Amino acid sequence: MAEKKIVNAIVLRAVNYRDFDRMLTLFTREEGKISACARGAHRARSPLAAASTLFCAGEYALEEKNGKYEVKSCLLDAAFYPLREDARRLSYAVALCQITEEIVQAGESNAPLYDTLLRALTYLSFDEEHDATGIALPFLLRAMALSGHAVMLTRCAACGGRIQDARFDPLSGGVVCARHASNPLAVITAEDMAALRAASAGEFLPAEGDVKRLCRLVGEFVRAQMERDFEALTFAERL
Ligand SMILES: [Zn+2]
Repeated sequence: MAEKKIVNAIVLRAVNYRDFDRMLTLFTREEGKISACARGAHRARSPLAAASTLFCAGEYALEEKNGKYEVKSCLLDAAFYPLREDARRLSYAVALCQITEEIVQAGESNAPLYDTLLRALTYLSFDEEHDATGIALPFLLRAMALSGHAVMLTRCAACGGRIQDARFDPLSGGVVCARHASNPLAVITAEDMAALRAASAGEFLPAEGDVKRLCRLVGEFVRAQMERDFEALTFAERL
């Protein structure tokens, strides 16, 4: 007997499968990660074409049969089409989805991360005022905090004391005192510190000013803590 469920979801990954089907990795607000097949999505004029495209967000009707999910229909909320017009923003958007996919577990809801990803994709699509790194930075800081790997900003990540002459150490877990840095590390000024703190908490807003360097440092932190590389992030940083 097939079981139906309605979930709010974002497409984190879409891979063509067999002749006309598409396998989706959905980040559902209610149940975390779910793999679902969109049958015929790859066919011309398929009603599931938009719903089975990367970044699409909406209300998905799924049907479960023998532990496998199929997309029956979707009420689209956002497709984030403008992302496709800018290679750099597109690369950051793919990177944020890859990192999210790594954090989210099957069967575990993470609504704050879901909402944060939606905000980030919205800003990357429609806010032309800020650089993509101004949007990626608050996302990365918050996503890491929600995954249990918050960047340490209040105390030295090495000695636990008050930070003196701050450096950034991706491996230790955040900002450290210069005398606890075993190798040359990036200097963190008071201004950098304020920008990192502002991007970590409160309402999700793009960071002001030039945060390219900080975004790169936090990207290193993400790779060090997750113990893997994210190709799209590396690609985005080079553009
Ligand atoms: Zn210290």
